[in-house]
Amino acid sequence: MLFENLDIIEPIQRALKTEGYTKPTPIQEKAIPALLKGKDLLGCAQTGTGKTAAFAIPILQGLSSESKKLIGKRQIQALILAPTRELAIQIGDSFKTYGRHLGLKTLVIYGGVSQNPQTKALGIGVDILVATPGRLLDLIKQRFVSLNHIKHFVLDEADQMLDMGMIEDVRKIIKYIPDTRQTLFFSATMPKEIGKLADSILKDPVKVAI
Ligand code: AMP
Repeated sequence: MLFENLDIIEPIQRALKTEGYTKPTPIQEKAIPALLKGKDLLGCAQTGTGKTAAFAIPILQGLSSESKKLIGKRQIQALILAPTRELAIQIGDSFKTYGRHLGLKTLVIYGGVSQNPQTKALGIGVDILVATPGRLLDLIKQRFVSLNHIKHFVLDEADQMLDMGMIEDVRKIIKYIPDTRQTLFFSATMPKEIGKLADSILKDPVKVAI
């Protein structure tokens, strides 16, 4: 199986070629077709399996067709939650790399730094927001962020979030996201509480374990 055999649009194929990717990894091969159809996904996968591209590619492709219909200021249409600043930055870099020919705006926000540059960037408008839960919730409460236009929501490394005490913030954030979204849920392990959270936010998900 090659990337060319998946139904990926030309500008993304071109970006993948520049990165030197020819073959999808197993999780990409399974997840990309399902996600392009709009399915929810439950992924049991570690970092290093290519899971970031597995969700970034179909989300970028979805936004590239959906965003043509939007006029006026950019609205956040995809939200990716990650437990750490390092992972959030890495995910943001992946969206920028695979989406380099699409003209979409990606912003990464996290705590422990001044919120001013982040609120300024949000004011200008973004399509894809990658965030750690605590800072995102702060900015939602201050009304710098609206999640009313989210079409794709990713929870990455959910088990890490549980270990780091972030699950309550995550639950609060999910209440702000429209029910009509596509939801992707990734966790390396599935402790009971994580399984219950997944069940409560996914609709008839495709399950991929690597
Ligand atoms: P991830 O599991 O998402 O953290 O990705 C692990 C690493 O594999 C990253 O450095 C990616 O750039 C790289 N990668 C992802 N997909 C592919 C692919 N299909 N071919 C080659 N490298 C890839």
